[in-house]
Amino acid sequence: MRAFAYQTILVSSLALARSEARGDDHHGACKAFPGTPTWPPEETWTKFNQSTGGKLIKPGAPPGAVCHPGQPTFDADQCAIVTAAWGTYDFHASNPVSNMWQQFNNDTCLVNPDYPCSGEGYPAYVVNATTAKDVRLSLEFARKHNIRAVVKSSGHDFQGRSQAPGALSIWVHHMQSYKTQEVFKPTGCNFTIDAPAVTVGGGSEVGPIVDKLAEINQTIVGGTSRSVSVGGYLSGGGHSILGPRYGLGADSVLEVEVVTPTGDIVTANECQNEDLFWAMRGGGGSTFGVMTSVTIATHPTPKLVAGIIGILSLDISAPWVWDMIGYIASQLPYLMSKEVSGYAFFSGNLTGPDGNNGTASFAGMGGEYMILDTQDINDMQAIWDPIIAHVNKTWPDALVAIDVNPYPSFKAWFDLWYDKDTTGYDQYVGSRLLDKKALTSLDSVALGQVFKKTKGSAYLVAGKGVQNAKPRGGSISVSPSWRKAVVHAVNGHAFLPLNATARAEALAIVDDRTEPLRQLAPDMGAYVNENNPSEPDWQHTFWGENYERLLQIKRAVDPEDVLWCHPCVGNERWEQKGYRLCRVDENYTTQARQRYFMGV
Ligand SMILES: Cc1cc2nc3c(=O)[nH]c(=O)nc-3n(C[C@H](O)[C@H](O)[C@H](O)COP(=O)(O)OP(=O)(O)OC[C@H]3O[C@@H](n4cnc5c(N)ncnc54)[C@H](O)[C@@H]3O)c2cc1C
Repeated sequence: MRAFAYQTILVSSLALARSEARGDDHHGACKAFPGTPTWPPEETWTKFNQSTGGKLIKPGAPPGAVCHPGQPTFDADQCAIVTAAWGTYDFHASNPVSNMWQQFNNDTCLVNPDYPCSGEGYPAYVVNATTAKDVRLSLEFARKHNIRAVVKSSGHDFQGRSQAPGALSIWVHHMQSYKTQEVFKPTGCNFTIDAPAVTVGGGSEVGPIVDKLAEINQTIVGGTSRSVSVGGYLSGGGHSILGPRYGLGADSVLEVEVVTPTGDIVTANECQNEDLFWAMRGGGGSTFGVMTSVTIATHPTPKLVAGIIGILSLDISAPWVWDMIGYIASQLPYLMSKEVSGYAFFSGNLTGPDGNNGTASFAGMGGEYMILDTQDINDMQAIWDPIIAHVNKTWPDALVAIDVNPYPSFKAWFDLWYDKDTTGYDQYVGSRLLDKKALTSLDSVALGQVFKKTKGSAYLVAGKGVQNAKPRGGSISVSPSWRKAVVHAVNGHAFLPLNATARAEALAIVDDRTEPLRQLAPDMGAYVNENNPSEPDWQHTFWGENYERLLQIKRAVDPEDVLWCHPCVGNERWEQKGYRLCRVDENYTTQARQRYFMGV
């Protein structure tokens, strides 16, 4: 008996020693975490830093710490500067550890000194990666030491996929470069694509790309925020106000350079690494590898007419408001057929100018709309005339306001209209792609009630350009629903920080607002980049029938799950428990040890 017990102890401790060396943790198979036995010692980090040429950053204190007495970086002057910048996208994009939506760092260090501050919700180390080699070294280090790796570019992500506690963050923000070409020959192909293209670094942001391309009268399919980067935008699909003409952002991708989780630096296009090429265009960020550069087809910058159109009630309690909104929503397929793009906001209480330098409340639809290849504002008016005629006849008290202008180029419009909203707080968003059937199968009254419940907006960013897109290699991996979509309907809810009840309620509210859209379009899906981590059946909602192929590719390129995020393809084997990332299978350690001793 005693001998047996002794053997068991010996075998167990041997197993533990070996599993620790491999990076497992004796509390269960978790990724290494600061302060646990498997976390690499300081000397190992020092050597790693040397291998990157000094690009490793140990954050010390998060950016909000300057406002917290007792924190090492406390500085009242800096606090004033950081507080003023906290609501801007640029501040969080250019900070190595910060992110836009604060619940994803668990609100662990907001600028308000009344709140607690620690670095708990932030990465432990950051590599300021500027080359593919830096990325490779980082991924290899994370794999070798079983450390959670995360990729941050701008930190815009609504799903929190670019933030992770105790992780090694690969910060690609400084991978910004731009090279235009009149024609493009994909690596390894025996043909040339006879169209202009731009090759940009994996952290390049939409604003500077639009600026550079304007110099040669070209533009890209990009988002409305200047600081959204190609890394997350294109790997999620990427919608645009130019989408109804040119397709999704990812439809214009010609080639990608990727560092795979196994550390290979590969070029993926329609002639080589085709599976990876397909997955990197829609399969989601930080899943299949790190995009270190991408070549995108550019498009001649269009002349355009754009501006605000409002169809409103001055009486926000008028009983017909939502019937009218339902009617306008039912006309979105018509607007799509006329190649109108833009963003329609439906609300029972919008604030806008009252015409006397003040503001007033309205109910109804206020939106930003665009048509291309014209400088004649009457063209926009003519498209809207039938809708306005119906509104005037049916709801004579409705107020119609059209304020559209000609713009000589996309940049001329973008410079005025890019997204200048604020960030730095807590919010979740929900969304659903809606097809023509969804928008026309109900009568206007019933459709109005759907939008009343969703309290959201409908982005006219799909339409013909997305439906008829011809991406290189035949297809990309976004949800097939995009190819039927007319609009991307979005809602959101902000909530108080450091309040678990408010956080749970916010998710429930967003879910409640999205549910009527799911019922309206049960056979459609949703856009992964503008959604929340609690979306039910996220695998198929975000990727539909493409999920199974994406999963196979994930398993092939990342057999050890070096890259993990949620909701991301193939993440099912791990879950975040508190701040730790652990194997889902509680028995993993036991099984792994058994396999280890059995030589499997
Ligand atoms: C203000 C605002 C406006 C927006 N406008 C639009 C819009 O018009 N159209 C649209 O489609 N979306 C829009 N979005 C959503 C946007 O597409 C997503 O937030 C997207 O994830 C941002 O990508 P990022 O690289 O800038 O952000 P990050 O948060 O840094 O990254 C997002 C995801 O991509 C990964 N990632 C980043 N870089 C790389 C890389 N080089 N290689 C591999 N993975 C990488 C990250 O790990 C993370 O998983 C908007 C978001 C905001 C906040």
